[in-house]
Amino acid sequence: MKKYKQGERKTYIINIDGMRADYFGATGNHQECLTPTLVSLAKKGIRFTKCKDILPAVTATNHTAILTSTRLGTHGICGAWTHYKGLDFAHLRISSQHGTAQMDYYKHRHLQGLPTFFNVVKMNNPSSVTALVIGKHWVGEVLNDDDCDILIYAGNASNPDYVTSSKGHILGGERHEGDSILPPRLYLPKKGDRFVRSPKGTWILPFKQVNADLIPSDKWIIDQAIQTICYHDPDFMYILLNNMDSAGHTYGSFSDTNTSNLNRFINPDAMMDQLFITDSEIKRFVDFLKRRHSFENSRIIITSDHGMSSMKEAKEACDVRKVLAMNGIKIRANTRWLPFGYKDGGDYEWCFSEGNTVYIYCREDVEKEIKEALKRDLKHVHEIFDKNEQMKRGMWKGSYQDVVWPRIIVFFESNYINMGYGDGAAAASARFQLQPHFQFLIAKAYGIPFAIGTHGTPSEQAVPLILVSPDEPKVPTGVTNNNKVSVLDILPTVNALNRWPEQPTFEGIPLLFKEGVIKKKVRAKPRIQVRTSK
Ligand SMILES: [Zn+2]
Repeated sequence: MKKYKQGERKTYIINIDGMRADYFGATGNHQECLTPTLVSLAKKGIRFTKCKDILPAVTATNHTAILTSTRLGTHGICGAWTHYKGLDFAHLRISSQHGTAQMDYYKHRHLQGLPTFFNVVKMNNPSSVTALVIGKHWVGEVLNDDDCDILIYAGNASNPDYVTSSKGHILGGERHEGDSILPPRLYLPKKGDRFVRSPKGTWILPFKQVNADLIPSDKWIIDQAIQTICYHDPDFMYILLNNMDSAGHTYGSFSDTNTSNLNRFINPDAMMDQLFITDSEIKRFVDFLKRRHSFENSRIIITSDHGMSSMKEAKEACDVRKVLAMNGIKIRANTRWLPFGYKDGGDYEWCFSEGNTVYIYCREDVEKEIKEALKRDLKHVHEIFDKNEQMKRGMWKGSYQDVVWPRIIVFFESNYINMGYGDGAAAASARFQLQPHFQFLIAKAYGIPFAIGTHGTPSEQAVPLILVSPDEPKVPTGVTNNNKVSVLDILPTVNALNRWPEQPTFEGIPLLFKEGVIKKKVRAKPRIQVRTSK
């Protein structure tokens, strides 16, 4: 067997996408504790109760933050989609499925020059093996690089030979007696299965863009992670389980129920069941390590990229474009009629929303006017960041390479959402949740919002953080830590546990080390521009 330097252990990061911190230890109607595996892992290691993600609390931004230990202003991955220079609406792709325009995903070249942890692992130990097993292919596209040896996602043509095909599955699992009826459980068919019967009590979504290849089950992800260990035994593996996020967007958050208006449309049973299912999959992974006697030499880190909130009724949806139009501020992008293109005489380029965050692309000279109009007339706003505010918080990257940066970012209060305009990544609905026409049908019938659950809350969101590393001297057992920590600190901690030299690009600090706690080592200042790559 391969020999490792002392202190160098296999590290497995399991990121439960969309997992609220308060789901830890929650109890449900049909099970007792919904997270028995996480609770038992916490007893074997250390749990940080006050871990926050970074703003905006959306997927790509936070997975990138974790894997590079840098803030948005450094890594520059602002949300799932990007606004490219020279991108006008004439060049937007028109989706064959629902006729809406979508922006392009980020391509990995935007991280050029900024090391991911895969690079750090290889720098310190060139013979080590790294793997990324990921329930969202597009996050893989952002994070994958030359130092990531094994990249697995459903439908990837270059998956290793042992990878199985992703089967159909039910979000939230099978229905049981006493379940909320609406919205029903969703059945995600295997890719290409357009006319199969869905299991009783489920709605099938036989569309090209919502299938088990785009949203594989957590079971599938854990299967591939286990096989990857059997075949390649990676030293560092990042696993993304996506079902909590998909279920959260579809059913809302079960712990958000003390806000009025929410109980009518959330499906708490489906959410609780999904949490139990996801926890059980992690148990399967842990049990596998125990069976092969490698659990004692492993580091397991459980965390998340953001939480999830349930939205108010549809009639309470906010509308940034409308408020701006009311103030005589016109959008340049022609988003309504074919051909899209631009209209002359618009004041700002475009705006779209992701969760309850809205990005506005405008010129510097209209920034103030837009901000003031929104502050005055837009309801349920928590905060509006212009360039200065973004810079203060390490969120401003500015236009770089071919990316255009949103000069204004609007954050709504947690339970409010902007209108889904259909031409952008509104609530991420176009790709990951119910297709828009389905959403509109349900919304119309039940008075529910465009997206039932979403995220991107006004402040950094609380996410779970559990670190287990049996018999590793620095890692305590059964400790609950209430210090304020950040997802940025996760990989600096692994780096320090491995006794690797401090990585200068890290903006987080190593936890568990005295220098990080006693001296209150100041976090690296946010870098406005890390590197100018050509
Ligand atoms: Zn996410």
